[in-house]
Amino acid sequence: MNKKELISKISEKIHEEAKDAGKIKIMHLCGTHEDTITKYNLRSLLPDNIKLLSGPGCPVCIIPDEDLQKVFHLIEKENIIFTTFGDMARVPHNGKSLFYYKAKGYDIRIVYSIFDAIKIARNSSRTVVHFGIGFETTMPSTALAILDAPENFCVFSSHRYFIPAMEHLISLGVEVNGFINPGHVSTITGIKAYEKIKKYGIPQIISGFEPEDVMLSILKLIKAIKRGDAEVFNEYTRAVTYDGNVMAQKVMDDVFSVDDWEWRGLGVVPRSGAVIKEEYSEFDVVKVFEDAFSDFVPVEDKAKKACRCGDVLRGIITPLDCPLFNKRCTPKDPVGACMVSFEGTCNIWAKFGVERN
Ligand code: SF4
Ligand code: SF4
Repeated sequence: MNKKELISKISEKIHEEAKDAGKIKIMHLCGTHEDTITKYNLRSLLPDNIKLLSGPGCPVCIIPDEDLQKVFHLIEKENIIFTTFGDMARVPHNGKSLFYYKAKGYDIRIVYSIFDAIKIARNSSRTVVHFGIGFETTMPSTALAILDAPENFCVFSSHRYFIPAMEHLISLGVEVNGFINPGHVSTITGIKAYEKIKKYGIPQIISGFEPEDVMLSILKLIKAIKRGDAEVFNEYTRAVTYDGNVMAQKVMDDVFSVDDWEWRGLGVVPRSGAVIKEEYSEFDVVKVFEDAFSDFVPVEDKAKKACRCGDVLRGIITPLDCPLFNKRCTPKDPVGACMVSFEGTCNIWAKFGVERN
């Protein structure tokens, strides 16, 4: 059976299983899953009573404007080299972005890994500040880099723990009957990390990224929902184990402690922020440049008033419900973070040409 036949076979099974299932909402939590779903048009293979929502799955999209503004503030005040991943450099705020600063002659460098930023620091006498973003997927690399960093290197930690955000979404009253959990995050955290979500009675499945993985995961979730079974299932057995990557967990625990931090669209999420521990404070930008941050005041971006990123990230609307989608807000000239990032739902929908019928 080829891939196409396999997917349509699973689709048939989903239709059969969904007949007497009532209305079901399934939320996935990963930019790469949204990419697969939209690229292969999987939503069109589901019956009308099964809705597939996208949640806060992109590490760039969920970083609040305040973090971005703090970075801009630092760059304007201090003679530093600032390193960042490419997507993050395009997120706008009040007409500025990290690319704007680069064009103005500030020393902003795009890196593909934090270890490139370390290399830059080793070859420079100036301080290199790295924008540490991402969930449990990238946090272990940042922790390892901090353990081996030269004196002139520090991190602006904007890393966030993913699983507290799932609990927070539920507490905000998001109506979902099942979750498709992020595959890469799960390789680090393991299945065990999701056990605490079980008490909310919502089944979860960790899924791989091929279209047949996602379709199988949907089928399995529908069956579990019908049975009233709130287990954590693992469809991504080729990469995810029960305990996860224990070494990576240890290095994260050694370097980071947790705090209540804000997420774009979700507000303050308890125990979701990755704070660099006191013993590594010489690598924490917040401590190293304490004076520079002392007069920081966040400013609202009025142009973003109509942007509905927050609602997209909570699965309340799809990009098509945003009046700016593919009009004022495009991948070339984005208004909100969800249109900037390659893992952002708006960007993915625009890229694959999803339009109103
Ligand atoms: S970091 Fe990995 S798991 Fe998380 S959203 Fe991106 S692709 Fe998905
Ligand atoms: S289309 Fe643009 S403005 Fe609208 S929610 Fe998405 S990113 Fe925000």
